[in-house]
Amino acid sequence: MATTTVMKLMGLSISAAKRAGGIIRDIMKSGQLDIVEKEGKDDLQTEADRSAQRCIIASVSKQFPNIKIIGEEGNAHTSNVPDDMLVTEVDVEFITKNSCPDYLKDIKEEDLVVWVDPLDGTSEYTQGFLEHVTVLIGIAFQSSAVGGVIHQPYYQNANGEIGRTIWGLKGLGVDGFNSKKLDSSKFIVTTTRSHFNNLVKNALDAINPTEVIRVGGAGFKVLQLLEGKAHAYVFASAGCKKWDTCAPEAILEAHGGVLTDISGEHYQYNADVEFPNKNGVLATAPDVSHQLLVDQIPKEVKESMSNK
Ligand code: AMP
Ligand code: MG
Ligand code: MG
Repeated sequence: MATTTVMKLMGLSISAAKRAGGIIRDIMKSGQLDIVEKEGKDDLQTEADRSAQRCIIASVSKQFPNIKIIGEEGNAHTSNVPDDMLVTEVDVEFITKNSCPDYLKDIKEEDLVVWVDPLDGTSEYTQGFLEHVTVLIGIAFQSSAVGGVIHQPYYQNANGEIGRTIWGLKGLGVDGFNSKKLDSSKFIVTTTRSHFNNLVKNALDAINPTEVIRVGGAGFKVLQLLEGKAHAYVFASAGCKKWDTCAPEAILEAHGGVLTDISGEHYQYNADVEFPNKNGVLATAPDVSHQLLVDQIPKEVKESMSNK
């Protein structure tokens, strides 16, 4: 059977995320990070963010001219892309081993939106916490996050191989990581490393976890849930954007977890939504009660977020 648009897009996203990971490593090796501060406080951009975005957006838009693609680094970093930066081959293993879920079989390019965070965890990248860095490519259909790729360029396996790529598609499944069973005698929460504030603290205090894992990036935090290392990701702050959560949400939910705002509402991912996830992020691993956690977040925290 001919490959569907979504499967080809997933296959190309896997290849493009891997190439972006190589670019991120090369720029770190060169030492030429060329860091600039973006508009917001605590918001950095490096040459790796810019080049990785150029590679991903140019590659996807060349193959899928009618798909709306939104990247964190804006439109300034999507043109003048040299041919050798373009990824044209879809990931063969993905395409040959998997088939398209029925509900996505007949859809057109115009029905999809792709959200790109070319380098999630930029603060950590500049500070040498390289394991926290991920490349995120999320796919939305009818405003919902349905598919995604998380590539971790600095992950090292037991054989010393560098980089790994995790994917998920709702209705198909997930791949690229090992999941261990959660320790039910504990309740481990992962949250921000570099964007901590009082609201984030109040929400965590109310949940009273046995352990808090503070790491960078939405991608790396959701990886903690996928791998069974943390029960929940709690971030009662407005800093995350749609490109941070689209891919992680799709993969986590394809695996049986849940990702919403801190009041339990799913975010929308159509092309005209506002970028900030103003009501924070609350994600739970499979077999953890999402609603219980929503109920534990104090009303004052929820209200003070939705007033922003
Ligand atoms: P963190 O959990 O702090 O690593 O953040 C996850 C993602 O959200 C990263 O892409 C951050 O850049 C972004 N983010 C979170 N809080 C903020 C903030 N206060 N300002 C800018 N970006 C933020
Ligand atoms: Mg990010
Ligand atoms: Mg980023």
